[in-house]
Amino acid sequence: MWIRVSKRIVPKGYSGITLFPFIFLRSEELKDDKVIINHEKIHIRQQLELLFVFFLLIYGIDYLIKLIKYKDRKKAYRNIVFEREAYANQYDLKYLKNRKLFAYWR
Ligand SMILES: [Zn+2]
Repeated sequence: MWIRVSKRIVPKGYSGITLFPFIFLRSEELKDDKVIINHEKIHIRQQLELLFVFFLLIYGIDYLIKLIKYKDRKKAYRNIVFEREAYANQYDLKYLKNRKLFAYWR
């Protein structure tokens, strides 16, 4: 896993984007933010589990489904299965140690 800082890759309003094996952050200071790093590490695990391509596929499809459901982009994004898991557990810094496989389906 590698951490890079790039304002070009990470859009305004977001702290980071994870594209296995990279975690892209919007600014240098975010490297010290344990919660954000934990959030992105949860995405690394999800991407590994789904061999990356299936993660992207499900991420995109789930976003569209939630967009139709909520008619609100931010709300749709926050309710993508992978984001739900990451946001719900980002404050638990030991979460990944005990995480079960495919935890987002549970
Ligand atoms: Zn996320």
